[in-house]
Formats: sequence, C-alpha cells, structure tokens
Amino acid sequence: MALNYRAPKGMKDNVGSQQEELEEIFRLSSDLFRLHGYMMISTPILEPAGLFTRTIGEASDIVKKEMYSFEDRGGEVLALRPEGTAPIMRAYLEGGLKSRGLPQKLFYYGPMFRRERPQAGRYRQFHQVGAEVLGSDSPLADAEIISISAKLFGALGVQDYTLLLNSLGCRKCQKDYLAILCPYLEEVKEDLCEQCLVRARQSPLRIFDCKEASCQDALSHAPMIVDFLCEGCGRHFSELQEYLDLMGINYRVEPLLARGLDYYSRTAFEYQFDELGAKSTVSAGGRYDYLAEELGGSPTPGVGFSLGVERLLILLRSRGKTPLKAYGLDVYVAPASASYKKAALLILERLRSAKIRSDTDFLDRSLKAQMRAADRLGAKLVLIVGEEERQRNVVVLRDLAGKKQWEIPVEDIEREVNNFLERKRVDDGDG
Ligand code: ATP
Ligand code: MG
Repeated sequence: MALNYRAPKGMKDNVGSQQEELEEIFRLSSDLFRLHGYMMISTPILEPAGLFTRTIGEASDIVKKEMYSFEDRGGEVLALRPEGTAPIMRAYLEGGLKSRGLPQKLFYYGPMFRRERPQAGRYRQFHQVGAEVLGSDSPLADAEIISISAKLFGALGVQDYTLLLNSLGCRKCQKDYLAILCPYLEEVKEDLCEQCLVRARQSPLRIFDCKEASCQDALSHAPMIVDFLCEGCGRHFSELQEYLDLMGINYRVEPLLARGLDYYSRTAFEYQFDELGAKSTVSAGGRYDYLAEELGGSPTPGVGFSLGVERLLILLRSRGKTPLKAYGLDVYVAPASASYKKAALLILERLRSAKIRSDTDFLDRSLKAQMRAADRLGAKLVLIVGEEERQRNVVVLRDLAGKKQWEIPVEDIEREVNNFLERKRVDDGDG
C-alpha cells in the first residue's frame, strides 16, 4: 500500500510493549530519583534556539548539524530541545527556584530531538531520563549524580559497565591548559579531520570528543587537562573519587574524556557498555558551573546527567532482561449471541469496577471467533454469557490455558474471578 504519510526519518512509533518498556524505565528511575530526594520537573519541548546555541556551543555537533530550529509565525526562532540541562537551568533561573532552598535537586523524563544520521541506538527523536543538582559545588553532589546510573544498572541486572571519569578543570585550569594544548594541536593539524580543525579554533577542549580514528591517534599524546588542574579543582576531583570509592562504585580516570557540549567544567563522566560499539555510551553527564552565567543568571554551580532510554533498552533486550510487567487481559467477556450483549456489558462494567482487567467483543463475532480473539489478547479467562445467564442466573468461566470450564452464579463473578487469578499467580510463582 502506498501510504501518503510516514513517520519522519529517524523517529518512530512505540506500540504496546515498546512504549511500556520506555515507561517502565521511567518508573524505575523515578523511584530511584525520589529515593534520593529529587523532585520532578518538566519543561517545554520548544525553547528559544539561542538557549542551546549559546550554551552547548556554536561549534558543537548538536548546534551545527543536529538541532531542529525554525522561525515561528511571529518571527521567533525556536528549537526542538536537543537536551535537558540548559532548559532546566533556564527554568530554575526564570522561576527563582533558588528561593525554595539550595540545592535544588530535579529530575526529568522526555523526548529529545537531534537530526543525526539514523542507525540502531541513534534516532532523531529519543528519550532521556536525567537529573540535575543546582546550587551546590560539593563533590558530594557529583558523586550522588554519578551513583544513580550505577544503581539503575544494578537494579536492571547490567552491572558490567565501564564508568569513565575526568575533570575538565575550571576557567583558570583551562586557560593554562589551552596555552599548551593549542600549540600541540597546531603541530598535529595535518592528522586532524576538518571538523577538528574548526574545533581547534573555536572550542579546542571538545576536540577530544571526536570519534575519527586518525584524530584519536593524533590526540593520544596530547597534553592532558588533569595535569593542569588548579588546587581547588584537584581537591574537588580527588574528593569525588574518595566518595565514589566509599560508595563502592568502580571507575576509571580517563584523561582524554571530553564531552560534546561547551558548558562543562570540572567533572565529566560516561557509562559505556562494550557491545554497543560506537553507540556505547548509555549515560553521561558532568558539572556545569558556568552555565547559569551564560544564561544571564547569577553564578549557580550545577551537576547532572542524562541517560538514553532507547540505548538502555537495546542493551537490556540483547541480554533478555527487559523490565516488562505483564499487562495482559484477565477476562474476556463473550456474549454467546447478540441478544446477550447488554447482560455482557453490565458484567464487564462490574469487572472493571472491581479492578479486573477485562474486555469484550466489538465486532459481533461468533463465540468461536471470540475465543480466538481472547486467546490473541492473552486473556486468562473467558466469561461466557448465554442462555443459562437468563434462565438460572449463572455464567460460564473458561480457563483458556487449562482448557477447563465451569459455571458460577452471577452474583459471585468478582469473587470467583479473583480467586482464580490469585490461584494462578501462586501456581505461576509470581507471588
Ligand atoms: P554520542 O556520543 O553517542 O553522540 P552524546 O555525547 O551526543 O552521545 P549526550 O548529549 O551526552 O550524548 O546524551 C546523553 C545520552 O543520550 C547518550 O549517552 C545516549 O545514551 C543518548 N543519546 C544521545 N543522542 C542520541 C540519539 N541520537 N539517539 C538515541 N540516544 C541518544
Ligand atoms: Mg551525539
């Protein structure tokens, strides 16, 4: 069939269990965030484009190639948000959240948009869960932010991550470092890709985020920022490591780890899993102590992370560990013929009032066809409403898996169904 419209490239429909899986990751992480004292926040999908160009950096991949921006009918330039941190900082400053007490610990979930080349684990609309601690520069906040992904991976049974950690220093360390790095980049410029040549001029620190093998080779002997940390940044970094050690979180200091966004300072980290290859990073974040000032606000330190939900699900699926609950139907109510439709409707409504998941036929199908439909829906029971209903005030319950059926009095329906479901839960061993 030649359809007139398809979903935009790199964007997809999540049907049934696909969406349930996304939601389940959100539920699990929300529980974890609340357990750590975080409050939920949601911000608009659209923001002034400048919020991102200014903070993520003009030379970043996101701003140069990936951002969806457009002029609306009033001439305002808006962008579909490519990430969640700058909007949350904007909301914090705009809403004066500081007055609620510091630090503000916020978490979010939602779609992000980047016009990348679509491939497995890389979409143009994808979901992130993430959190930010605003108003504290303590390495304790960095440690907590880092620990949450580790706990989520633990809860999902995928603990074999590699946690890479680095410090990008503050403005002072970065200035000292750039004085050495820039001449080095000049020396190796023959080996750098075109984009890195631009980065070398516009935001040299981000050059380490390049994925080209030739660039990575050329940079493998570059001077490293960790060797240039000022006293304050050095202490911050070592305290963070002490906290992570205390929390039993394994990490590797990776002096070449950089992030693709301009606003990071001090802590940067990434959680990687081997089998995801070039898309190996599932969760990443860091500290952004200058972001608030970039937005015209008063200095506000912050640290946060975001986790790519689709990438996490790809990993979980590849290991047969998707966190899916059973949302199947309990009861399919089947009128034996059209004349019992009203009696069936009343029973259906009673079941739903009793919080029993139930459904019925909407296509005037034969009883046999309804049995097939019930089976397809994974119903545990079929409740047949027929002549006996009227004559003796009973209905028939049919156990689809056990291939048994029996009669029950109409007034006992809820109790009988619940008893059956309870027995089944015990037999199936899911408590
Ligand atoms: P990458 O280096 O893979 O491009 P990134 O550094 O651009 O990732 P971040 O901006 O740190 O990614 O976003 C945090 C997380 O969001 C990533 O670790 C990843 O799990 C997820 N993510 C980023 N871009 C995409 C995308 N296009 N599709 C799916 N998930 C994504
Ligand atoms: Mg990217």
